[in-house]
Amino acid sequence: SAKRSGRGGFRFFTTDYLKAATERRALEQDLLRALELDQFELYYQPVVEARTDRVVAAEALLRWNHPERGLISPAQFIPLAEESGLIGPLGEFALRRGCADALHWPAMLRVAINVSPLQFGDEDDFVKVVQCVLRQTGLPPERLELEITESVFLQNDDKVQRIFRGLKALGVRLALDDFGTGYSSLGSLRQSPFDKLKIDQSFIRGATEHASRNRPIVEATASMAQALHMVTTAEGVETFDQLDLVRAQRVTYVQGYIYSPPLPADVFLTLARDDWTIAPAGPACQRAER
Ligand code: C2E
Ligand code: MG
Ligand code: MG
Ligand code: MG
Repeated sequence: SAKRSGRGGFRFFTTDYLKAATERRALEQDLLRALELDQFELYYQPVVEARTDRVVAAEALLRWNHPERGLISPAQFIPLAEESGLIGPLGEFALRRGCADALHWPAMLRVAINVSPLQFGDEDDFVKVVQCVLRQTGLPPERLELEITESVFLQNDDKVQRIFRGLKALGVRLALDDFGTGYSSLGSLRQSPFDKLKIDQSFIRGATEHASRNRPIVEATASMAQALHMVTTAEGVETFDQLDLVRAQRVTYVQGYIYSPPLPADVFLTLARDDWTIAPAGPACQRAER
């Protein structure tokens, strides 16, 4: 009967919900010790100049080597780290490791590090952290780019604006990540401290399909960025059609499986060289990370 299935459904829901909550808490506990146990690793994904196929930079992407669960995606553990307060030390680990690794690459390659606004702390705490890491590692500031995701925290906040100015004064570059998915208004780009807009992969996906509503968004973003003297990166480019589209729109850089998936640090180091170009390889290389 409806009654019975309703009860059964409720019981089922409760058990599932509890199981998920328990798993989450267990993962959060593991996360707290994972830094000490050295379970985090950075992968590097080449960032390629669209016009020339030249690699100009790499984005550092965190991976968690969990002893029982295997490789865990940052989409899963970054939110946990943000909730548990671990994002500060974890973000600093990524920053320090990324800068140290980049010193071993050819000097024309920059490194891009993802930053959560929750790392900012009070006043100029974060600016001091970046300054300190640059000093300790010896990486020239112009080789460091910080990717900051659009978020509510960025909106019209004086403290955040001071932090951006402090970072710019250090000589690092700033990129606005996942552009178009978040909260920043077009008006906030008028006096933007950002050098670069990263066009989110959700807009690239399907952009080449017939009557796509993503295509005009990609086109408008690219031409607006140009008019504002900002460079652009298209994220998640996987097919030749998508590559043709972003090239035609004069998007500056491309990051996506069509050139390369994120690579383990040692693999990236082996491949990196002066005047490094990569031929786009299409959907065939999409499974390369595994
Ligand atoms: P993101 O910064 O937007 O990074 C781009 C994501 O797109 C990466 O996912 C990358 O592996 C993936 N990607 C690159 N090319 C393609 C493609 O052609 N197709 C598809 N389907 N995906 C592609 P990943 O590595 O899973 O990272 C997810 C997110 O986790 C990142 O998004 C970033 O927001 C966050 N994250 C990663 N590392 C860090 C970190 O050190 N600190 C912080 N705060 N966040 C991080
Ligand atoms: Mg990023
Ligand atoms: Mg992104
Ligand atoms: Mg993204």
